[in-house]
Amino acid sequence: MAENKLRRCPVSKKCGGCVWSGVAYKEQLKKKQESEEKLLGGFCKVEPIIGMKDPMYYRNKVHHVFDRDRSNNIISGSYERNTHYVVNIDDCMLEDKKSQEIMVTIRKLAKSFKLKTYDEDTGYGLLRHVLIRRAFATGEIMVVLVLSSSILPGKNNFVKALRDAHPEITTIVLNVNDRDTSMVLGAYSKPIYGPGFIKDKLCGCTFRISPSSFYQVNPVQTEALYRIAADFAGLTGEETVIDAYCGIGTIGLSTAGKAKEVIGVELNKDAVHDAVINARENGIENVQFVQGDAGEFMQKMAIERKTADVVLMDPPRAGSTEQFMRSAIRLKPSRIVYVSCGPDTLARDLEFFVKNHYKVEKIQPVDMFPFTEHVETVVLLSQQKPDDVIEVDLDLDELDITSAESKATYQEIKDYVLKEFGLKVSTLYISQIKRKCGIEVGEHYNFSQKENQRVPQCPKEKEDAIRAALEHFAMI
Ligand code: SAH
Repeated sequence: MAENKLRRCPVSKKCGGCVWSGVAYKEQLKKKQESEEKLLGGFCKVEPIIGMKDPMYYRNKVHHVFDRDRSNNIISGSYERNTHYVVNIDDCMLEDKKSQEIMVTIRKLAKSFKLKTYDEDTGYGLLRHVLIRRAFATGEIMVVLVLSSSILPGKNNFVKALRDAHPEITTIVLNVNDRDTSMVLGAYSKPIYGPGFIKDKLCGCTFRISPSSFYQVNPVQTEALYRIAADFAGLTGEETVIDAYCGIGTIGLSTAGKAKEVIGVELNKDAVHDAVINARENGIENVQFVQGDAGEFMQKMAIERKTADVVLMDPPRAGSTEQFMRSAIRLKPSRIVYVSCGPDTLARDLEFFVKNHYKVEKIQPVDMFPFTEHVETVVLLSQQKPDDVIEVDLDLDELDITSAESKATYQEIKDYVLKEFGLKVSTLYISQIKRKCGIEVGEHYNFSQKENQRVPQCPKEKEDAIRAALEHFAMI
């Protein structure tokens, strides 16, 4: 490793994948620690970053764009920074070696099978991208050929030739992406060899991974990351845990043994499908997975007045949303464990929690991406106990507040419902719910202005939100 860590990649400038090629690993860790302290040090002490013993060839996922060079040779690699020129890559020091060997074989096969590479400008050609994932613990390998059409000429011979060269490949998937898009995968996938997914092992569980499902790219550090997240969650077996942005369920499933129940929520349908099967195959019964937007899911839980003891959240680099965080707080978790791959958005989101009665207790950076500027962080937030808040005893008689004075206006109720639940409610709906709760309302609020028109009835979700507002303003 000693000699490798200072190896300078010949294409690093063009490719831009490893901005710290040639920088000693110790130095990289120091820089990451400093940047984390600068960004997050104001919240609490930043623990020393956890680095890798061997920071080379750690990525279990290799993605290449295919193209031709000026001499018409097939090349594959990544886009040159800020351009759509492809940099040919043969030996990247971040990516799994075996997957890179397979990539080179695919280049040769593409030539002998006379496959046309896709031209973004004209939309002509077949082979767009290749994605290879290797499960480090099981050795299973998935090759995804991303084509502009579902027809691969000589498919059976191509599969045979690829498997003859690399018998360790356990599945090959054909994915069709026929759109003018920067997204790698298209909507349609079909296995042309093997089951169409691979299985890997992490933290004592087995996980099935489909082509479009998110899976952490550095499995060695992922175990460390999840161990820290579980430790921060401080589970005793009694807790209801939300695993938000759960992917294929890795964090939730590996902590379910220490919780009463785990509810995972994830947007990607394939990932949720994987998560459900993963729960079954690992014999874990106290989990359920919901497909949908995490913010909307949390909002629904908040409106239904559900609670959770621990919220684990692992959003994409763009961070979480106000809807999510506001609702998460309403579930009154005593702990929130935030796993983040974007320190800037993490700082923004922590600010929100801190303003809303949560305290940052611990910050632990983990180096998941050596030779790049990226850094992963796990943060523990705790709900401020009443002891931390100044208590004031109020005698209502002394204050002489009558029920009339504690009433909120329609506008105040609207503002509250919008702020707390992100829902817009009309005066009509508020009046309907007030009436249901036995509060006097003016006659005209209950009827539509236009004759012969049916009065719309307040939907359940909005009713719950309005009731919460009425409670907040001590009107019920
Ligand atoms: N916790 C998982 C996945 C983290 S990556 C793991 O460690 O493997 C972030 C995940 O959030 C991805 O799976 C992505 O599909 C999902 N995601 C992105 N936007 C989302 C949203 N609005 N609601 C729910 N999930 C979302």
